Amino acid sequence: MNMRLTKARRLVIKIGSSLLVDQQTGALRRDWLDALVDDVAACRARGQDVLLVSSGAIALGRHSLGLGKKALHLEDSQAAAAAGQIRLAHAYQESLARHDVPVAQILLTSEDTEQRRRYLNARNTMTALLAHGSVPVVNENDTVATAEIRFGDNDRLAARVAVMIGADCLVLLSDIDGLYSADPRKDGGAEFIAEVSEITPAIEAMAGATGSHGGSGGMVTKLQAARLASQAGCFMAIADGRGTHPIAQLADNGRATWFTTSATPSSARKRWIGGSLRTNGSITIDAGAVQALGRGKSLLPAGVIEVAGDFQRGDAVVVQGPDGATLGRGLSAYSTADAERIKGHHSNEIQAILGFLGREEMIHRDDLALG
Ligand code: GLU
Repeated sequence: MNMRLTKARRLVIKIGSSLLVDQQTGALRRDWLDALVDDVAACRARGQDVLLVSSGAIALGRHSLGLGKKALHLEDSQAAAAAGQIRLAHAYQESLARHDVPVAQILLTSEDTEQRRRYLNARNTMTALLAHGSVPVVNENDTVATAEIRFGDNDRLAARVAVMIGADCLVLLSDIDGLYSADPRKDGGAEFIAEVSEITPAIEAMAGATGSHGGSGGMVTKLQAARLASQAGCFMAIADGRGTHPIAQLADNGRATWFTTSATPSSARKRWIGGSLRTNGSITIDAGAVQALGRGKSLLPAGVIEVAGDFQRGDAVVVQGPDGATLGRGLSAYSTADAERIKGHHSNEIQAILGFLGREEMIHRDDLALG
C-alpha cells in the first residue's frame, strides 16, 4: 500500500483531457471514467475526502459543436468549453450516481484563487461540499476567463485548489508515468525519477526536456503545480492515468514521481498567516479567551473586548491579550464594523445582530497562528 495516497485525509485528483476524451473520435471514454470513479468510491470508503479537477470540456465541446480538430480561436474554444462542460458534468454525475455519491460542479477563474474574498468563498463552499459527503468536480471557468487571466492548464488550477482546501495529497493523472531526466520517447537512457524532495534547477531542467501529449499542460506546468503544493505541505504525484483504475494502481505502489515536503497543510498555513501577511487591525480578547486559544480552540465573538483598525472579512489581524500583549495573528471571519457589533456576544446572537448567519467563530482555529 502506498501510505502517501491511502493515508491522505484530503485528496485532489486531476484528470487530463487526453485520458477522458478519445483523441480520435472526440467521445468521452466512459469505461475509463467509470473505473476511475470506482477508485474514487474506494478512497471515500477509506474515509478520505476526494475532490476532482477535470479537464475535457473543450475536447468534448469541440466534438459536439462540429469544430473538428483545427486550432480554435479564443471565442470558439470558449464556446466549445460551454458546450462540453455540461456533458462533462453529466458524465461525472452519472458515474458517481452508481455509488450514490452526490456530485457538485465548481468552475473557477484564476481570480477566484487570488482575490482574498473570492478565495474565501470558494474555499468555504468546497469545504462545505466535502463535509456534506459530495465529490466536487472543478474545472476552469473557460467561458468567462479571458486569455490574460486564464490558468490555461488544469495542473496549476489543481494545485491552487489543493492548497485552498488544505489537501495533503494531489495526484496529477497524466499520459506519462512521471518525471524523467530526459524525454523517454526520444532518449533511451532517460532515467525515471521516483522522488523529488526539493525542486532544484536540475529538476527544472529535466522538466523542460520531458514532454507530454495532449491537453495544455506539459511537465513544466506540473512542476509549477508541485512547487505550489509542496510549499503548502501537500504531497504530489505525477502518475500514469492511461490504464484503467489508475488510483487503485497508485495505492498499490504503482509507478509515479512523488514530490514530498516536510511541512503539513496546517503547519504551512499557520506559517503563512504568522509570516508575510500584512495585518489591517487588531482584536483584543479577554483572559478566558486567551486560555481557550492556548488549548487550541477558536476565537469566539464572546471573548472579544476590543476591535481596532480597518479590516475586511478574511484579512489578517493581530490578536492581543487584555494587557495589549501580542498573542499571534489570524484571519478574521468578520469586517471591523461587523466585529465591532458582535463583540462580547454569544455566537447564537450573530444572526439577530447582523441580519445574516455568519460564522460561529470570529477567528477559526485553522486561521490562527499563535506565538
Ligand atoms: N479547462 C480545459 C478543459 O476543460 C482544459 C485545460 C487543460 O487541458 O489542462 O477543456
